[in-house]
Amino acid sequence: MPDDKNLNLSPKSADRIAKTTCYMCACRCGINVHIKGDEIRYIEGNRDHPVNNGVLCAKGSAGIMQHLSPARLNAPLKRVGKRGEGKFEKISWEEAMEMASSWLKPIRETDPRKLAFFTGRDQSQALTGWWAQQFGTPNFAAHGGFCSVNMAAAGIYTIGGAFWEFGSPDWQNTELFLLFGVAEDHDSNPIKIGLGKLKDRGIRTVSINPVQTGYSAVADDWIGITPGTDGLFILSLIHVLMKTGQIDLDYLIRYTNAPWLVIRRPGSADDGLFLRDENGQPQVLDHKTGKPISAETAGIRPQLKGEIALPNGGVAVPAFMLMAEDWLNDEHSPEASEAKTGIPAERVYALAGAIAEAAFKREVVIDQPWVDWKGEHHDKMIGRPVAMHAMRGISAHSNGFQTCRALHILQILIGSVETPGGFRFKPPYPKPAHIHPRPAGKPDQVKPSTPLPGAPLGYPMSPDDLLVDDQGQPVRIDKAYSWDAPLSAHGLMHMVISNAYAGDPYPVDVLFMYMANMAWNSSMNTRGVIDMLTETDPETGEYRIPKIIYSDAYSSEMVAYADLILPDTTYLERHDCISLLDRPICEPDCVADAIRWPVVEPDRDVRGFQSTLLDLGARLGLPGMVDADGKPLYRDYADYMTNHQRKPGIGPLAGFRGQSGKDKGRGDPNPDQIDAYIANGGFWSEELPENARYFKMANQHYQDFAVKMGFFDKPEPYCFQIYSEVLQKFQLAAQGHGKNQPPQHLRERIKACFTPLPQWYAPFDGDMVDSDTYPIHALTQRPMAMYHSWGSQNPWLRQIHGHNPLFIPSGLARSLQVQDGDWVWVSSHHGKIKVPVAVMEGVNPHTVWTWNAIGKRRGAWQLDPDAPEARKGFLLNHLIHELLPMRGDGLRWSNSDPITGQAAWFDLKVNITKADHEDNASAEPAFPILGTPPDLEKPASVLRYGDSIIARDKKENNQ
Ligand code: SF4
Repeated sequence: MPDDKNLNLSPKSADRIAKTTCYMCACRCGINVHIKGDEIRYIEGNRDHPVNNGVLCAKGSAGIMQHLSPARLNAPLKRVGKRGEGKFEKISWEEAMEMASSWLKPIRETDPRKLAFFTGRDQSQALTGWWAQQFGTPNFAAHGGFCSVNMAAAGIYTIGGAFWEFGSPDWQNTELFLLFGVAEDHDSNPIKIGLGKLKDRGIRTVSINPVQTGYSAVADDWIGITPGTDGLFILSLIHVLMKTGQIDLDYLIRYTNAPWLVIRRPGSADDGLFLRDENGQPQVLDHKTGKPISAETAGIRPQLKGEIALPNGGVAVPAFMLMAEDWLNDEHSPEASEAKTGIPAERVYALAGAIAEAAFKREVVIDQPWVDWKGEHHDKMIGRPVAMHAMRGISAHSNGFQTCRALHILQILIGSVETPGGFRFKPPYPKPAHIHPRPAGKPDQVKPSTPLPGAPLGYPMSPDDLLVDDQGQPVRIDKAYSWDAPLSAHGLMHMVISNAYAGDPYPVDVLFMYMANMAWNSSMNTRGVIDMLTETDPETGEYRIPKIIYSDAYSSEMVAYADLILPDTTYLERHDCISLLDRPICEPDCVADAIRWPVVEPDRDVRGFQSTLLDLGARLGLPGMVDADGKPLYRDYADYMTNHQRKPGIGPLAGFRGQSGKDKGRGDPNPDQIDAYIANGGFWSEELPENARYFKMANQHYQDFAVKMGFFDKPEPYCFQIYSEVLQKFQLAAQGHGKNQPPQHLRERIKACFTPLPQWYAPFDGDMVDSDTYPIHALTQRPMAMYHSWGSQNPWLRQIHGHNPLFIPSGLARSLQVQDGDWVWVSSHHGKIKVPVAVMEGVNPHTVWTWNAIGKRRGAWQLDPDAPEARKGFLLNHLIHELLPMRGDGLRWSNSDPITGQAAWFDLKVNITKADHEDNASAEPAFPILGTPPDLEKPASVLRYGDSIIARDKKENNQ
């Protein structure tokens, strides 16, 4: 038995408690860190925090072990061996920063595109994006392109927000909750807390997901859909609801573009566009006069049916008629889709009935008057209490954007977006695409020693906003915002290394990455990417990607492939800013932001990446980072958080602004702002007025509040875009209209996929392989106990998921004659792996799956080379290529959604055969053991945490 002293985790054993923000996943819960001396003793949830109300998950508790990880990098490193050997020499920060700036300065002075700056799941994109903009490179993005950009972009283009960080189910009021293809790390604590509330109230939860784990395992109903067919399933729900009249017509008329008139003049350049007046206002048919009138006119009652002849030929009809024409078609009936979805038609009818019953028989009425943007007064807030949530599961397919759009349209049709009991926006959302900026980086905007005129990421509204050259060719290294992926709002990080390697569209000189494990679990075609990182030009002997700068806190697989390492701190040792300018932590009823701060000082020669970036920016003389004399404007990230103003009065932190510290949203910088956050528990929040809490897109009270807080400079009410004119503009370009048209080889694809009303098409990768040869769908998901690759180095969390078997359905197991612990070969059109299996019932009969990023490369993360993560853990990534199989014309498209560029991880189809029995089998492919950076700590000999054990381990390390 361990003695009590070693395991004393009582808060009383601490001599101070520091309140900050968790970073063991991206939910950003508030935590109380108990500290004794300079040692962290215990982490608990902050009960006052708006995100988690004191709830802490397994990951959050295990933050202690993340902080104490032996894999922490301890000093700047310069590569001395070959790339991939992991041989490094420690250098000083001065040498490291001089090296980085000497690589970057000439690029900026000649061709800033030669810097590709991409970050992983960091939480400082307001800073990193601005830094790229000031550097002048368009080649910037974070990890959204390989995560869930389809969900985010479809939401922004359709309703002005999306799930998770942009909004939340109305847990208090909903009567039915639907979960579609969730990734269990998006959202973590908030969903668990919400599900608990639903269970307390006896509210039914239905999960539509090929795999019945996590949230699906505690749902009342599980619908084990075939991967990639969610769009078909949702459209069949829409078909049934429309056919039976179970939709909210009043809501459609008031808050959506369903009544807007659409021009029907096939073959003309304006076919499918909205009929607009001379001021550009969309037109509707006025019920009283039957004539077109601006949709913005107060007091009108637009028609959903009708037709007017147009002076130049053709007609205009309300978008609703196109919706009815399309979705009432029998091709969308449950009977027509059941063979593909694997869901019997009867279940679709039953679910549609449950949705209609909850929405229309159990409407929620809140006795709260409010005024809409047209000045019309409403006595009450009336809602349709059906809430939904979805994330990467439906998003990471090549048809994900249209699937996500279909899901939002299902919500709209029953009137459950931003109404009581439905889905609610979190400020500063809703924020529709047209008020976001367009992406900067057109050829004439990229100039030596000059910032871009705007942010590199944004939301295109037409082909004119694409980042292409005169020949229509991509100008970004990831080909974002080109005809390959026009609405790629988060970039295509999964294409950066292969494009840079191929010099397509041009070579880069420096690849600068932060927290992105591209040499392992974050890349498709992992072995290929490793080769691309290490291959040299036969003529010059130089690496194809000449210089790689990488910043990480830990000795991840990517470290070994970089030339210069800028070591980051752990999340408990640095300042961070969870900003409204970035990805907010607001709740539907409150505006909130938060900080992290060094609750303990680093005991190594490491620096917070954001401070490093500002230092580098100052050394490069980037505008906004230096004063008129060229001296650094910001001492460090904390100084930037306090004093930077994106525009007058608007800074990274919205709380405690102004000299008095009492200003909210807008206000002068306050030198004591960070202290005020710390005193307040590490966060700031402000409640929304009661009359501003629902119907935010149309609610004048909310719009005024948003202007006061600085979200907008003027009210920005808008209508939900069921019918997407943006997509139609790309469709017209593919038909040969307009000055910017796609290259011939992409026209048919754009015509098929850029439909203004969502359509389902088969996922590309699965559709392009022979389904007799590769009959089985293969998926990965993150476990809720871990986050990306960080968790599987953590001794406490490794006890939950120490390795990852391939979970296979029992029917398949019987036909393969395999049982738990057996090994199988899994092959795709791209590769072959050998993995252990586990048999389960709760999975679609044609689908196998595993946890992602548990498998580790031997030698990385300071794990024992024979750790189970290396021997019995594996990645499906080896089976997935970043390019689709060759087509008839000899071209290969990227393995992405053609609209947003979202990495199509979940389109994979495989074949499985039983492997011969071997004692002590190991997963294949196996890679050579990676070298370890110098002087990392030895792994702890015990897994438990206790002061004398830590002391003993430290002593052992020092011997
Ligand atoms: S849900 Fe995420 S942020 Fe919240 S406690 Fe768990 S790991 Fe931390």
